[in-house]
Amino acid sequence: MPRLFARAAVMAVMAGSAAFAVAADYTGPLFDAHLHYNEEAWDGKQGPHPLDDVLARMKRNGVRAIIANSRPNDGTHALSSSAQTRAAGVTVVPFVRLYRNRADYSNWFRDESIHAMVQAELARGTGSGPFRGIGEFHLYDSANADGPVARKLMQLAEEKQLAVLAHVDDKAVDLLMAHTASRGQRLRLIWAHTGIGGAPVARVDQLMAKYPLLVGELSYRPGLTCEAGKLCPEWRQLLLKYPDRFVIGSDTWVNQRWLYYDELMAGYRTWLGDLPADVARKVAWGNAAGLFGLSQP
Ligand SMILES: [Zn+2]
Repeated sequence: MPRLFARAAVMAVMAGSAAFAVAADYTGPLFDAHLHYNEEAWDGKQGPHPLDDVLARMKRNGVRAIIANSRPNDGTHALSSSAQTRAAGVTVVPFVRLYRNRADYSNWFRDESIHAMVQAELARGTGSGPFRGIGEFHLYDSANADGPVARKLMQLAEEKQLAVLAHVDDKAVDLLMAHTASRGQRLRLIWAHTGIGGAPVARVDQLMAKYPLLVGELSYRPGLTCEAGKLCPEWRQLLLKYPDRFVIGSDTWVNQRWLYYDELMAGYRTWLGDLPADVARKVAWGNAAGLFGLSQP
């Protein structure tokens, strides 16, 4: 066999077996549906992660849109109004964060001044247009979902068709949904981490069936990936059952998440590549884009 031909034959066999045995990574656009640009990432002056740094990280990872929510909201205003963001090809979907500082994490659900702050931010809007959602907020004790401000904000979200980004357990999903006029049938609740405490897949399935607009965001979700960063079988099945209901996010809640932003996005691309191409594109981009009426990048 001529030497050149032999080499081509070997390469063809390798390519064939690779396609058969290992799915290629997903290469399309990403929508980072859980992004914070907090004050410790950028103090409004220099760093350690000024705007050009975080935008470069998004750009080189093919992140074409983000749900921005920041403590305080200044970080989101900075991202929304900067010409650099537009130049990087990143669309900002701004959410009102409920926190001015860390103390607000454990008190927002009963603090009237937070309700007033949300109203003021909604009235103000951003350089990328009106706020489209509220959150992320946390409930470390699900009973606090019944706090007076939590109740009012869920009603406001449904009335104004704002999405909410909620870091809560499965019990609190039911409690929050119950506050709205539709009892959760019309509230677009994005469940941060789809239950960071690891609610069983059967329970996630039950909530997805119960609330037609519930969306699961998958950062930090326990049990999602198995060997070689691929989806665990029961999660693969759930994503295939609800191909329109899951999204991905970075959750840059501490600066370390910015440092590893490349690895986080590469990790998503690995398991997305394991799904049928149309489902991968929905989870990576289309589901979040559809929620906010974004066109294809
Ligand atoms: Zn977060």
